[in-house]
Amino acid sequence: KLENATAKAELGRASWKLFHTMMARFPDKPSDDDRLALKTYIQLFARLYPCGDCASHFQKIIAKYPPQTSSRSAAAGWACEMHNIVNKRLKKELFDCNNIGDFYDCGCGDEDKKKKG
Ligand code: FAD
Repeated sequence: KLENATAKAELGRASWKLFHTMMARFPDKPSDDDRLALKTYIQLFARLYPCGDCASHFQKIIAKYPPQTSSRSAAAGWACEMHNIVNKRLKKELFDCNNIGDFYDCGCGDEDKKKKG
């Protein structure tokens, strides 16, 4: 089947959105189990990503730059850098990772506060 660049780009935008939003909701102080869950998620995401070429490139990237899971900001910063590596390869504009802080909002309200009681 022919490549469909529009569908591939759409999948990419949707996937990055979920990826970065997940990092933005990762705990500031994750448990060992949280950390293992994120690392496993990232590895499986890289393995199962539906665009095969993209998946094999991304697997090489994360082999070189292992997932950072020690805190929310470490995870979000790492994910931003990984996306920039892909951006660079595709000759896209790079994102300023210092501005990642409030960029990804899950729209789920003040769940952080609710959990803290
Ligand atoms: P995207 O790169 O999809 O970005 C969407 C939005 O995210 C941007 O508009 C911007 O607001 C924000 N953003 C940009 N950079 C960052 C950053 N560093 N951190 C946080 N937010 C940022 N396509 C290919 O053709 N070949 C590939 O090999 C390939 N590999 C991919 C691997 C993965 C794991 C993923 C998820 C996607 C891959 N893609 C690949 C798709 C590609 O990265 C883009 O998603 C697609 O080309 C659409 O690009 P876009 O310009 O709309 O912006």
